Amino acid sequence: MCLDIDDTLLDNAASSRSGLAALVGHDAAWPVWRRTTDEHYARYLAGDVDFDTMLHERTRAFFAEFGELLTDAEVARREHHRMCAMQRAWRLFHDVAPCLEWLHASGYRLAAVTNAPGGYQRKKMASVGLSGVFDAVIISGEVGVAKPDPAIFEIACAELGVPSHQVLHVGDRLDVDATAAVRAGLRGVWLDRSGVPAPRQTDVPVIAGLDELPEHLVCDYGVEHADPPRSAALASAR
Ligand SMILES: [Mg+2]
Repeated sequence: MCLDIDDTLLDNAASSRSGLAALVGHDAAWPVWRRTTDEHYARYLAGDVDFDTMLHERTRAFFAEFGELLTDAEVARREHHRMCAMQRAWRLFHDVAPCLEWLHASGYRLAAVTNAPGGYQRKKMASVGLSGVFDAVIISGEVGVAKPDPAIFEIACAELGVPSHQVLHVGDRLDVDATAAVRAGLRGVWLDRSGVPAPRQTDVPVIAGLDELPEHLVCDYGVEHADPPRSAALASAR
């Protein structure tokens, strides 16, 4: 089983909104922040800029949208303030710990597959109690390929020691996670946490929360339900 991290296990959107609120006093500009993030994060994933440069240029571009042209020193000061506020707000979704316990108790080998810099993402995982939970941690910044490239899923399957057709990947992005996993020969599940009961024209199964994952596995793949014991690593997850 492969799991994405951001907005699948960890509520990255909520922590990012907290960071934005620390930056400007409210999060009403969230749509602008999100659009600016999408543009700049794509440049980081493409290898055009390093992560710290991306953070700096994103914050500069965000304020420029509102006509405020900042010096490098002021961008750095505001970005540091935002980053600290965001990191204080890192939290797992409430359905994560029970799901991980069930997966462990059911005998799944688990891999995290995530697009981010290695040190940053490992710090984030440690801060929410995810260190030691996974059998393999595949971070794009460490392996040199990012989702949706099939190569990152192939690395995950190899580290798990499980053939790709027996591996299921769950993530919050239909294109980058679920569909990309299917293209790499895995099974893909789209975790759509939006809560919007919109018609879903997808070729992959959709769940609205991780509490639905065990039932999905039992019904679709015949996995027997386990009575999960608590593990020390998961008990510390919050
Ligand atoms: Mg994600």
